[in-house]
Formats: sequence, structure tokens, C-alpha cells
Amino acid sequence: MKQIIIATKNKGKVKDFEVLFKSKGYDVISLLDIQDSPDIDETGTTFKENAILKAEGIASIVNEIVIADDSGLAIDALEGRPGVMSARYAGEQKNDEDNIQKVLSELKGENNRRAAFHCALAMAIPSKPTVVVEGTCNGVIAEQPVGENGFGYDPIFFVHEKNKTMAQLTKEEKNTISHRADALKKLEVELNKYLEL
Ligand code: IMP
Repeated sequence: MKQIIIATKNKGKVKDFEVLFKSKGYDVISLLDIQDSPDIDETGTTFKENAILKAEGIASIVNEIVIADDSGLAIDALEGRPGVMSARYAGEQKNDEDNIQKVLSELKGENNRRAAFHCALAMAIPSKPTVVVEGTCNGVIAEQPVGENGFGYDPIFFVHEKNKTMAQLTKEEKNTISHRADALKKLEVELNKYLEL
């Protein structure tokens, strides 16, 4: 069976990719299955750059297709912050609650609360140029956290289309509108092109 490597140790993300690639005849493995996989520093200034760094970093040591993602929140009034710093916006402890509180205090009194989640996916293919796609999900930052589902900034990300915060949506509902789902759809188009070659 053909094999594809997902450059992540996050089980939830691996599951999302399995759905897409198993149907195309690929066996999906992740960094959880590879011993001593290197830690790639996310030194890029954009989601795209970081996704490419991770995919090509792992692809340089294995001769397989490698897919990596990078995602985060960009807030208009904060000139795109937290951006690539989303996970560690309030410090290296990577605490979701602290990150949310930092964003809310920075937006105190701000009327423009437009924001978007972004997800970049990079697919490094042996002897071929790396393919990159990006997905987005638009919303506004709520005045306070609402909802228990999801992770990260979901409790303060209000989606007009659903009239709810991301954290009030079920996993299935989130999967129909999320930045990651959008990027995965675009990756599927690119993958189909590659498989037809
Ligand atoms: P990573 O790409 O998994 O490293 O995610 C970076 C950070 O962006 C996460 O730690 C979250 O803070 C934020 N983030 C990415 N995707 C989502 C999402 O779907 N909901 C809420 N926060 C997200």
C-alpha cells in the first residue's frame, strides 16, 4: 500500500487526514509512528512558510509524501496577530485561557472585531515541487468566551453564519465550515491532479 506521512503528533489532525487519504488508497502514518522524528522549528513568519518548513523538513529524511499543517487566528484590528504566534500568544506555556484573555484585553473598546482562522497545508512530494493550499474561516471576536467545545480560540470566535461561537458548534458542524476543512477540500483537488499525472 502507498504510504503518506502526516507531520504532526496531534491524533485529531491525523484522523482528519486519514478520512481523505484512506479513500485514495494511502496508508496514513504520523510522527507518532516514527521513532526519533526531528523537531522542526517553526521559524516562518507566515502559516504557509511554517507548513512548508515542517513538510520539507520531514521529507528530507524519508522518501515519501509528507503533509504538514500550520494554523492560527488573525485579527484585523491587531494587524493579523496572534498569527503564527497563536499557540503561544500569552507565553511558552501555550495556555488557551491565557491566550483568550490576552486577545480580549487587547480588543477592549475596539469596534472592529473582524478575524479569520487560517490553515496552510503543505504537501512535499519526492522529486516534485511542494504543493501548498490555504483555507480560511471568517468570524468576529466575541466580547467574552461562550461554549465548551473545540479548543484554542473557539470560545471567542463568533461565526455569523451559525449565529454561534465555534465552541458552541458540534465537531461535525465545525468540520463543515472550518479553515482546516476548507484547506483539506483544496488539498483533495491538488491530490487528484497529482494522482492523474
Ligand atoms: P497548530 O497549527 O495546531 O499549531 O495551531 C496553532 C494554534 O492556533 C492553536 O494552538 C490554537 O491556539 C489556534 N488554532 C488553530 N486552529 C484552531 C481552531 O480550529 N480553533 C481554535 N483555535 C485554533
